Order: sequence, then C-alpha cells, then structure tokens
Amino acid sequence: MPGKASVRTLKGVGEKRAALYEKLGICTVLDLLQHYPRTYEDWSKAVPVSLATPGEPLCVRGWVVNAPTEYRVRKGMTLYRFRVTDGQATLQVTLFNNPYAAAKIRRDDEILLYGTVVSDGRRAEMTSPQIEPAATGGRIRPLYPLTEGLTSRMVETNVAQALELVSQCGVPELLPADLRQREDLCGRLEAWQKIHFPQSEQDILDARRRLIYEELFVLQLGLLRLKRRSRSQNRALLAADHTDGYTAGLPFALTGAQRRAIAACVADMQGERPMSRLVQGDVGSGKTAVAAGVAYSLIREGWQAAMMAPTEILAEQHATSLQKLLGDDVRVGLLTGSVPAAARRRLEAAIAAGEIDLVVGTHALISESVTFARLGLVITDEQHRFGVAQRARLAAKGQNPHMLVMSATPIPRTLALIVYGDLDVSVLDELPPGRQPVETYAVGGDKRERAYGYVRRHLDEGRQGFIVCPLVEEGETTPSDLNAATAVYRELSEGPFRGYRVGLLHGKMKAAEKEATMAAFAAGNIQLLVSTTVIEVGVDVPNAVIMVVENADRFGLAQLHQLRGRVGRGVHRSTCILISDSRGEETRRRLQVMCATGDGFRIADEDLKLRGPGDFFGNRQHGLPQLRVADLLEDMPLLQRAQTAAGLLLADDPDLTAPQNAPLREEVARLFDRVGEHGLN
Ligand code: ADP
Ligand code: MG
Repeated sequence: MPGKASVRTLKGVGEKRAALYEKLGICTVLDLLQHYPRTYEDWSKAVPVSLATPGEPLCVRGWVVNAPTEYRVRKGMTLYRFRVTDGQATLQVTLFNNPYAAAKIRRDDEILLYGTVVSDGRRAEMTSPQIEPAATGGRIRPLYPLTEGLTSRMVETNVAQALELVSQCGVPELLPADLRQREDLCGRLEAWQKIHFPQSEQDILDARRRLIYEELFVLQLGLLRLKRRSRSQNRALLAADHTDGYTAGLPFALTGAQRRAIAACVADMQGERPMSRLVQGDVGSGKTAVAAGVAYSLIREGWQAAMMAPTEILAEQHATSLQKLLGDDVRVGLLTGSVPAAARRRLEAAIAAGEIDLVVGTHALISESVTFARLGLVITDEQHRFGVAQRARLAAKGQNPHMLVMSATPIPRTLALIVYGDLDVSVLDELPPGRQPVETYAVGGDKRERAYGYVRRHLDEGRQGFIVCPLVEEGETTPSDLNAATAVYRELSEGPFRGYRVGLLHGKMKAAEKEATMAAFAAGNIQLLVSTTVIEVGVDVPNAVIMVVENADRFGLAQLHQLRGRVGRGVHRSTCILISDSRGEETRRRLQVMCATGDGFRIADEDLKLRGPGDFFGNRQHGLPQLRVADLLEDMPLLQRAQTAAGLLLADDPDLTAPQNAPLREEVARLFDRVGEHGLN
C-alpha cells in the first residue's frame, strides 16, 4: 500500500525536509496523513474592515487600491505599504522585508488578508498579514504541529500530495462497513480529506468523530487482545483453596472486601487461563494482606511468587510485612539494586533452585540474571509506574504466570476502563475497622508557627508526625525555590523542634540510610520525620498522627491523598495540615477538596476535572500508547461504544485473521509497538 512509502516519495521532500519530518515522528506517507492539524485558520469567512475585532486573527477580503510603495527605513529593513478597500472601509497594509510578497500585489487585485487589525478609530491597519488571491484562497486552512524549519504551508502542500497519492492507489478501510454504518462514521479517506482540508466546520467535526472512533477502537482491540493473551493454558493451576490456612495465622480478621478479592483471585487461578487481575484499593485498605493471601495458596502448592515494587523502601517494607503475614514457613527474599554482589548471587541461586517462595524486589527483578524455578505468580504494586511492557517482562520469567496488580492510585472510574483494559478488577471498597478520617486543614504560610505548635503538642503526648516538602523524587535536581528537605530539617531541628528527635528522609540517601531512618521512625526513636515524597507509598506507622505538608499546592491532589494516607493508620485521631502561600482561586479550590473528603475516588475525579488527564498522569508511566486525536476524558462516550464494538468483532475473529481485518490487525500492532513488546503479532 502506498501509505507505507517514505515521505521522500513526495515531490519537494528531499533529505532535509524528510529529516524535519522525522523529528515529528513522521517517516511514511501514512504518518504524514495522520499528522493532524492542531487548529485551523478560517479564510472562508471574510470580515468587513469596519467590523473587525481588534487584536483577533481574522480574514479580510478587498481590492488593492494602490500597488505597494517601498520604504527603505534603514539597512536591512524595508517596508512595503499599500491600501485595500472592502468597498466601504480602507485598510492600510504593511509588509516588512518581503519583496517577494509585495511584487505579487497589483492594483485592483481582489485578495484575502489574514492577520490582526489594529485601529485608532480613524484608520485601520494590518501588519505582515498572510495574503492569498481571493479566487482560490477562501478556504479553511490547517495549522500543523511543527518543528523549526517547517511551515504549515509546506506540510499542507505535502499532505495534499499524499492525499492525491492514496486516493489514486486506494487506502484500506480499517473500520468494518457495518460498524461504520451503525455508528454513522465516514470513510477513512474521506476523514483525512475533511480533517486536513475541511469545507466547513461540520467537516472537521465529522472527520474528528470518525478518527477518534477509529483510534479508540484500535486501542480497545489491542487491550482486549492483551486481556485474552492467554487462551494459553493456565500452568499454575491451583488444585485447592488454602485461604483458611492463611487467615488462621493472621492477627486480624480480613474485611469482607479483602475476602472477596482473594476469593476472586483463587477462582481465577483455578480457571483455564492465567489470572490477570487488578486489586484497587484506597490507601490503608489492606492490599498487602490480599497479595499475601493470593500468594499463600500458590506457594502451598509449590509455586514461587514475585512482587515488584517501585522503590527500594517500599520493597523492603513489603518484604517485612509479607513475611509477617505469611508466617515463618514461607521463605521470603528481598532483591533490590543495593543488595551487595555476593549476597545477590547467593539469592539468585536460591531463587533459581526454588529455595525462595516469594521474592520481593524493585526493577532489579527483571534483570536477566534472575531466573525462577517455578514462577507461578507476578505481583506488581503501584502498577502505573510500570509500563505494560515491564509487567510483561517479569511475567516472561515464568510460563504464563498469574498476574496480580495492586494500585492505591484511585484512578477515576472513567479512566480505569482504559488504563486497566487488559485486567479484571477487584475493588477494596471497605477499610479495616476502626479507621477514622484524617482531619485536614488548608492554611497560609502565616499559620506555620501555629501549625508547629500543634505538632509539638502531639509529640509531647507521645505521638509522631511528618513534615513533607515537595522536593524531588530520586534523580531530579533540586529546584532552588523549593524548601529543600535538608534545609528545612536543619531549620526545624535547631529551631521550633529543638530538643525533639527529628529525622530526615529523602530520595538521595543510600538505601541503608533510608532503611535505618525508617526503622528508627517505626520504632519511635524518631518523633518527627522531615521528608520528601519518598514516604508517599506504603510506609506504615500507626503511631504517626500528624502531617504538615509544605508548599502543598505543588502536589497533585491524588498525590496529596497518598501522602495523607501515611497518617490515620492507627487508633488515634489524625490531622493533616496543608500549607500553601499561593493565593490563586484554583489552588484554594483544589486544597479545599482535600479538606472536604477522604474518598480517594472523589479526589481523583476532582483532580481530573481541575487538571485534565494529561496532568493527572503527570510524568508517571501509565504504559498506554500515545493517542493522536482522542481525549480519554472528553471522548468517554465514544470510548465505551468502541469497546463494545471491539468486543463484538473479537468474538467473531479473535485473532483478527480474517482477510478483511488484516489492515486492522496491522494497525493494532502499530499502535502498541510504541509502548514496547507485547507478544501482539
Ligand atoms: P494498603 O497497601 O492498601 O495501603 P496495607 O496493606 O499497608 O494497606 O494495610 C494497612 C494496614 O492495615 C497494615 O498495618 C495492615 O496490617 C492493616 N490491615 C490490613 N488488613 C486489615 C484488617 N482486615 N484488619 C485490620 N488491620 C488490617
Ligand atoms: Mg500498600
């Protein structure tokens, strides 16, 4: 198909321009056709000069009154001036250093000018407008995402050639005809024509609808196929449910939600296909106990389990708490980047020999030297920090092991559908008994001293607390305007908290130091922990009841919620004080949401509304392909329809092997190529 040809087959695209296109990720003619306009200039509706809104880009139609006059202002600066009339008013036009454009303008020509009109009430003026002959220029014109050296006009010309090319040779339609008819979607070629060269605003809407649908449909096909990755056999087939043995050893009774989640996993593991399940639960809902329960049954039958966590500190905590939950009969190993070489070799040998039942670790787990004797279950914590591809890589160390994903990030319900499209979901919608909401206050920096006094009172009563500064995750450099944790630590321990046992925890510390600090805090030897967001996930100290967050406006709401989850984990009433000097309306609204609710899902929904999905995910990896036109939030209704349609299509043709579905199959592979290897082929 001609679409796969290089952009260099287009006239006027040589080595240089091809290199520019490559910067934009455009290599083939098809890529170019899918490089959609960012917005448009409407040259189709000319505005009379007298009605032009000053300062707003618009199109004026008129006749040239006089050919341009040249003014040499100084060396290297020449002006060209002429006047245009629209029949009623006159417009003064100035061009700078543009003899080429000026030469084309002749008296009595009818032209279109696109630019902004400036008017002093008597005289209207336009400076450096774009100019086109009226006969051919009255169109809606595309403006493209660009890179330096490329103009929208160049792209427009090339796109026109590309369209010509594919309309001659034909282009495969991706969407089945009956689907297009049912959803009232235009054809693919028509959509490209309309999105690049619309005749009306309706054209743009029609084209976008079709292209968004196509994109979401392909995305859903890919995700649904991942979900069925495994009509492959379930090799770690569970013979019996050992959950009773697990609960017998626990110091507490499982909540109903925990029991249901474990039961769902056990049923999955007794089924024909390997399990792919997400356990989603707000902070403190007890996900670790669920993971342990799921692992327990498999381990009892001789399988190994691996759990991957995003940070060393979290991996360490998980290893400790899992060992406690599972009891001494289960052999738990901890594998992180900071395990010394000799110890690591011993550990890896034990894993390979099947002498470790449960390995907890960081990314180190997916390194090549790690092999398992009988890996039956892969557990990932905080899934969104790993790409779908990383999860797959760990899984590849077993033969289609079961997969359990745990997420505390309260992904809004609307987004869960897509982000976790390849997983079944269990929600822990019940907190262990005795939890109290964390009282939350948002205050200005002027209340800082009072907040410290409040913290001191709690420390005096034997409780513990956190002061969190928005510094920097591991690897980032320190923004100078932020309260660096180290500086805050020094200030506090010598000032307001002199005489108290204050500790410091930040991402740049060595793992052993971090661990020692955390251990000291957990043991109560540190009363107040000054920290960056490294405590964000997992840390569990029930005696910690107060948290002060500095520069709270620098955090996303979802992240604040995670942080706040570090307190309120015991029997004592807990408090969170959000300090922010920002006076903005938006900031106040956001922080107010935190004060009003402790429901992680509601907070995530608000966050999404206030900041949009791009920000919601921030720089975190959610592992999904980049979308071109669709917006996961705005296009939710279409997404749901596309998901249903994708399910129907796969029911008929699970591997997309029918000849008419070949282009679709290729497109799915192409989209998912961009996220890495998936075994989608
Ligand atoms: P999450 O990872 O979901 O934030 P954790 O698994 O860390 O939560 O559990 C939070 C705390 O609650 C831990 O101290 C854990 O031992 C405790 N816990 C878990 N389940 C229960 C339960 N059913 N009853 C009482 N405490 C529980
Ligand atoms: Mg946890």
